[in-house]
Amino acid sequence: MSGTVDPVALAANLAAVRARVDAACLGAGRDPAGVRVLPVSKTFGAEAVRAAFALGERRFGENRVQEVREKAPLLADCALEWVIIGPLQTNKAKDVARLAHEVQTLDRIELAEALDHRLQLEGRAIDVLVQVKTSPEESKHGLAAEALPGLLAALRRFDTLRVGGLMTIATHTDDETEVRRCFRQLRELRDAMAAAGHDLPRLSMGMSGDFALAIAEGATEVRIGSAIFGARPAMTG
Ligand SMILES: *Cc1c(COP(=O)(O)O)cnc(C)c1O
Repeated sequence: MSGTVDPVALAANLAAVRARVDAACLGAGRDPAGVRVLPVSKTFGAEAVRAAFALGERRFGENRVQEVREKAPLLADCALEWVIIGPLQTNKAKDVARLAHEVQTLDRIELAEALDHRLQLEGRAIDVLVQVKTSPEESKHGLAAEALPGLLAALRRFDTLRVGGLMTIATHTDDETEVRRCFRQLRELRDAMAAAGHDLPRLSMGMSGDFALAIAEGATEVRIGSAIFGARPAMTG
């Protein structure tokens, strides 16, 4: 965690992102109220999160559980919610159950079992999105689309996991056709699952560089890091 932010710039960035999201909604014939912005605070310290909290933000996306562990105690006086958006190992389930309000990267039954076990011990339930792999890139995580019906059916037995939708990361490319194809695939999967009785209203897709395309394809939530907090040092994930 190294990034710092200037509160004035942060307020301007948040307003600019919201304005661009609203414009993308109107361009797509959608109601701006139907798209939430999830600020992604990864690599930025507790002070940056505190500054965004002071501006009214309540949910923050983080890639690594370890970072949440470091920031959460410094922000214990803020009623904020941590949203895990990075790949999760089952050995992190305990910290997730203790600290997170939502996991957008559920992609296998073993992880659901580990989370459920720890959440039961904590007496908590969390919101969950299933991450689907829509990009052919090796580096992208998520469940294969063909495996989605099976996982959704299996998840029904966990009272601690409130499955509300799907999440994806599009192919990292300048080719808008390919990026849009990823987002469209997620929406079409959601529609297909509705026919099978799975109510999945939420679609988390789109980041700083591609959120307008995601909104055009039906995103209900865009995960925005650099356009809000500024450029990050080079990192993986
Ligand atoms: C880092 C990250 C984001 C935000 O990326 P930006 O390009 O900085 O907006 C969104 N989603 C996931 C899964 C991420 O890891």
